[in-house]
Amino acid sequence: MEGKLFIFSAPSGSGKSTIVQHLMNLNLELAFSISATSRNPREGEEDGREYHFISPEMFRRKIDNNEFLEWEEVYPGQYYGTLRSEVDRIWSRKQHAIFDIDVVGGINLKREFGEKACAIFVQPPSVEVLAQRLRSRGTDDKDSLEKRLSKAENEMTHAPQFDHILVNDSLEQALQNAETLVRDFLKKPQN
Ligand code: 5GP
Repeated sequence: MEGKLFIFSAPSGSGKSTIVQHLMNLNLELAFSISATSRNPREGEEDGREYHFISPEMFRRKIDNNEFLEWEEVYPGQYYGTLRSEVDRIWSRKQHAIFDIDVVGGINLKREFGEKACAIFVQPPSVEVLAQRLRSRGTDDKDSLEKRLSKAENEMTHAPQFDHILVNDSLEQALQNAETLVRDFLKKPQN
């Protein structure tokens, strides 16, 4: 069988990773697509779990070898991309792929996979709330926080290009709505 794809995109700090984690804990045969990145691991992150952490040189080699379904320089000097091998790995295990990727990457994947993909934009209640969340997460220095926020403002304008907009105002409600969207899409027959 060819599986389906669930794409969750959002400005970082919108809570999409929490939503993706929640969905993975349900018995829905969803497997996380592990992106490759050239950024350094944060504390607690493990190679091959959150990301495949690779050097910028290795990243460029994989671009040249056409190993990516999509890739982007998400922040200056920091590359992120979805490896073709990830989707193959997940589908060969008869699972569905779930993605936590940035907005432009999400739109590109949706374009590539069309009806097989359910693309969901996770929308924070406001840029102010986003700023608060990122500050309290405390994983970014001031410079990196500002980069994320200015990117977020631009990303919010792309929401209408997704199949669904999931407002993350109350987390509990957002988790429930996400679950409904996924279950409904899984029930749809494959073309
Ligand atoms: P972080 O550094 O916080 O883990 O991720 C930064 C941004 O890169 C997030 O919005 C994350 O979703 C996005 N991202 C992660 N993996 C990919 C990927 O494979 N492709 C693209 N385009 N963005 C990604």
